[in-house]
Amino acid sequence: MSSKIEITKVCQHCGNDFIAKTTVTKFCNQKCAAKNYKQRKKTEKLNEVKTPTIQKTDFNLAQINDKEYLSIADTCQLLGASRMTIYRNIKNGTIKAAKLGKRTIIKKSNIEKLFTS
Ligand SMILES: [Zn+2]
Repeated sequence: MSSKIEITKVCQHCGNDFIAKTTVTKFCNQKCAAKNYKQRKKTEKLNEVKTPTIQKTDFNLAQINDKEYLSIADTCQLLGASRMTIYRNIKNGTIKAAKLGKRTIIKKSNIEKLFTS
């Protein structure tokens, strides 16, 4: 008697019967495994594209609302402006920003101030 486990399984990619050496094997060979992996990745990517952008924005905005200090990217999202616009306004002093190493940090209240005067 062999101690090897032999399980007849159906390949999840091509549907052929095969003898699996382990209980976790899902494919009859490497080729099927690779093809299935590729296909899954492709599907994942497609699903990503299908996800509405609005949902993503809403989520980010909720996060931004909780923050006191914003990155340039956050500020772009919040104001719906481009990075160039934000940088230009920092340069001309409209938006006050602090440099933290390579990062530019903007206090949210500084942005809110833009709308109070
Ligand atoms: Zn197969």
